[in-house]
Amino acid sequence: MQETDNTQSEDSSGLRSQVREGHIREHAMDLALKDQEVLIRKLRLAEERSAMLASIVDSTEDAIISKDLNGFITSWNKSAERIFGYRSEEMIGQSILKLIPDDRQDEEALILSRLRRGEHMRSFNTKRVTKTGRLIDVSLTISPVKDEKGAVIGVSKIARDITEAIEAEKQGAMLSAIVSNSEDAIISKNLDSIVTSWNDSAQRLFGYSAAEMIGQSIVKLIPDDRLQEEPEIIAKLSSGQRVDHFETKRLTKFGKLLDVSLSISPVRDLSGRIIGISKIARDITYKKEEEQRKNDFIAIVSHELKTPLTSMRSYVQLALAKALERGDGFTEKVLKRADAQTRKMTGLIQDFLNLSRLEEGKMTLNLSEFSLSELINEVVSDTLTLSPAHEIIYEPCGEMRIRADREKLSQVVINLLGNAIKYSPEDTTIRIECSSTAQEVTIRVIDQGYGIPPEDQSRLFERFYRVNDGRQLNISGFGIGLYLVSEIVKLHGGEIRVESEVGKGSIFSIMLPLASLK
Ligand code: ADP
Repeated sequence: MQETDNTQSEDSSGLRSQVREGHIREHAMDLALKDQEVLIRKLRLAEERSAMLASIVDSTEDAIISKDLNGFITSWNKSAERIFGYRSEEMIGQSILKLIPDDRQDEEALILSRLRRGEHMRSFNTKRVTKTGRLIDVSLTISPVKDEKGAVIGVSKIARDITEAIEAEKQGAMLSAIVSNSEDAIISKNLDSIVTSWNDSAQRLFGYSAAEMIGQSIVKLIPDDRLQEEPEIIAKLSSGQRVDHFETKRLTKFGKLLDVSLSISPVRDLSGRIIGISKIARDITYKKEEEQRKNDFIAIVSHELKTPLTSMRSYVQLALAKALERGDGFTEKVLKRADAQTRKMTGLIQDFLNLSRLEEGKMTLNLSEFSLSELINEVVSDTLTLSPAHEIIYEPCGEMRIRADREKLSQVVINLLGNAIKYSPEDTTIRIECSSTAQEVTIRVIDQGYGIPPEDQSRLFERFYRVNDGRQLNISGFGIGLYLVSEIVKLHGGEIRVESEVGKGSIFSIMLPLASLK
């Protein structure tokens, strides 16, 4: 049993060792398989990493180029193609000197010697030349490429095109030079009216230095009686509108009131959002003084002319009465003409006096109640004696009593009718109409004259504005009639409109509200 046992035990130990060997072999195979898997995984990772690096290199905005230590290009990415214009097959194997302008060729030797010593060069700004020969500004970052032992075997280069940035910088410098050398005060502020920039002329004009004003409210410059202007300006600007040539007064550091003309515009960020306000202030004190002198002159001359003219008119009327008495037809005709001309002159002088009153802010209304149709009738018959060459049709609009400044309203109708005659060929018809609603009365003067070009229509009511049209060059005038008409109408709370077509004629309509005239 023992033997058998022994034999059995020998057999089983052999088997055991066979099994063990089998296990070891399996284990070894397992290990080998695992190693392989690890290796494969490592390789895959390395592949992924290099694919990722390649895609980074390809998708970057900067040119990424590598070259050997002799300056021959070994890789060239997509942005290098875009920036320099050469494709990679045109550049790989070529010398980098191809990109370097003639006057900078020695830069390469310098770069390579620093790189050989293992140094990096960061943000080195220089110029390079593209395939089309265009010079571009680039910022270079150059690094040595080392092998496992640390020996420098090549060079990698990242080039960024900074042409636009440098151009923007130059433009910025130019703009700031313009701002600081400008004769006008140029100021910027935020939407809370806090000053954010202040140029030299702002200091010259207002007396405050930039240090005294930046961070302060612009309200410091506004006289007390004009404080409401600031919220009005901010509201207008916030809605995206500009304010042009706004004439007003501002206060200097020393308490002096200046006449200024302001041009104010919104400042937007790149997304178009309004982030502030820029203001150009021009000192117009001299211009205002000139205007004042001109005004004073007009006022004095008109006044001096008015007195002798009034007595002249009385003498003419006296003589006319005598001529009528005597039945002297010829003298009567001559004196009637003299009377009409003196009336015309009185009208002109009246316009000048009104102009200077208006400029001084002294034009006031002298309201009374009267018949509008009677007033129009008077003006029409006066005008007819002055200009018999035109047909004037007035269809009376019934008894229309209104409350207004009779003398000024008559000036308005005289001016509109006078213009209709002046700017229409002889023998044409001029109509004057009136109508009313419960709210307002409308007077319309319609002619078949030369008409007014559309671009001039909106400016007709400006002071001294005359249409610069060949046909009208020979017609004398001062360009103040329509300005006065519109100011008088505005003083009455009314409105004036023009419709006109060149070669066909014009319609001037004035609307006067009845309520405000009560
Ligand atoms: P003035 O007649 O003295 O030039 P106004 O202020 O009365 O000044 O008119 C301004 C300008 O408007 C005139 O120069 C003329 O060119 C134009 N204008 C005014 N009324 C008429 C009209 N009825 N037809 C054509 N043009 C007109």
